[in-house]
Amino acid sequence: MSGSGSGVVIVGAQWGDEGKGKVVDLLAEQAHAVVRFQGGNNAGHTIVRDGEEFKFHLIPSGILYPDKLCMIGNGVVLDPRILLGEIDGLKRRGVDVGNLRISANAHLIMPYHVLLDTAGEVKLGKLSIGTTRRGIGPCYADKALRLGIRVQDLLDEKILRKKIMAALEPKQQALRELSVQRRKLRKEAGEGSREGADHSIAEAPDPRLDLHAMTEEFAAYGHRLEPHIADTAKLCWEELDNGRRVIFEGAQATLLDLDHGTYPFVTSSNPIAGAATVGAGVGPSDIGEVWGVAKAYATRVGAGPFPTELEDATGRHMLERGHEYGTTTGRERRCGWMDLVALRYAVRLNGMTALTITKLDVLSGLDPLRVAVRYRSREGAIFDEFPYHQSILHSAEPEYEDLPGFDTDLSECRSEAELPAEARAYLDFVAEFAGVPIRLVGVGPGRDEVVWIGGNPGVL
Ligand code: GDP
Repeated sequence: MSGSGSGVVIVGAQWGDEGKGKVVDLLAEQAHAVVRFQGGNNAGHTIVRDGEEFKFHLIPSGILYPDKLCMIGNGVVLDPRILLGEIDGLKRRGVDVGNLRISANAHLIMPYHVLLDTAGEVKLGKLSIGTTRRGIGPCYADKALRLGIRVQDLLDEKILRKKIMAALEPKQQALRELSVQRRKLRKEAGEGSREGADHSIAEAPDPRLDLHAMTEEFAAYGHRLEPHIADTAKLCWEELDNGRRVIFEGAQATLLDLDHGTYPFVTSSNPIAGAATVGAGVGPSDIGEVWGVAKAYATRVGAGPFPTELEDATGRHMLERGHEYGTTTGRERRCGWMDLVALRYAVRLNGMTALTITKLDVLSGLDPLRVAVRYRSREGAIFDEFPYHQSILHSAEPEYEDLPGFDTDLSECRSEAELPAEARAYLDFVAEFAGVPIRLVGVGPGRDEVVWIGGNPGVL
């Protein structure tokens, strides 16, 4: 199924926050280039390097290697203010960003996208998706509507102004309508409610939507970003044609995929491996390996079905021991047992060739360790496969296999043999069930706190 090319895709195998950042960081060491292919600044990778913590929302984590080409692909949507903030932050910490390249075809998140995202979520109320309200969904919507503004548009102020004007008009209309609805809602909810506190879109005209100011502001971003703007697809081809390793870095995760995830509680792009080709401009045969990253348990941020969710002391253990708070939002993550039905689905969707299991250390102290191996519907039907119908998934009860737990601190383990027998048995069960070999196991947040199974690939 996979090609023979030198591309390696790294994807989240669950609902995100699996620790992809660290895996990319480790594999990037053996690669020539890293490219992000989808998502926006709603990604949040945390990397601990020499005891120092780096958080990335947009820039590929490979930036910490000055000799690697580090690219933001055409499939990414980017907010130039956030990007420049990240560039400045890295520079201040002495990180060289000279190797950063941004696709001229990537789409820009504009101020009206952020306003629409917030207004849309507020309107949905209890039905809200739990987006990060950074404008990412509306930006992708404009891309599909052919109303998007691309990075290359920043380089020509006349074109930029025209495009903003065309995009702005329908937004002003939509925001006005939403603000009327909001006012009605506020009235119903009464003053002092959560709705009442946010006046951001209630009054018009909004100075943040001024055509001239916006054009000038964004043209200025263009000047600053110009040295980084490039044809990133071509840069990828040059690496791949020379047989050099390119890492395609996914953000979010398989079960949040726009097409294959738990729609509508999903992200607005395709984080699965197939999207790496579209989002970076390469072909399927350029991809030789697909590594999926899964936690030893499961977490989910925001709303949507999560069959193995735990709202008890065990879930609390995972939350606290795993520091399960969002990198970007600080939100508490929902926690639960490893869901092997969902994992097997992810393996197939991505054509995964290897698995990485992170945060195995967090399970220490729990006994037994449970893994979901099938679901039972409300009507008593058994599902061995991930059900396509959302109503079934919403009410699915997981059926578990219980495996013996361990109580040892794993953080010092550096080889498979050093792991307790119960931990090894747990990993074997997961790999066997998923049908994919586990190549790397995380035993702590530090980049050296890993166990390579079958040795460090040097490999790849
Ligand atoms: P990403 O978006 O998939 O990269 O995930 P995040 O960066 O949001 O979450 C990963 C968090 O888990 C970071 O704080 C990492 O330092 C931490 N982490 C990664 N691997 C391990 C591990 O094996 N054990 C523990 N305890 N923490 C880990």
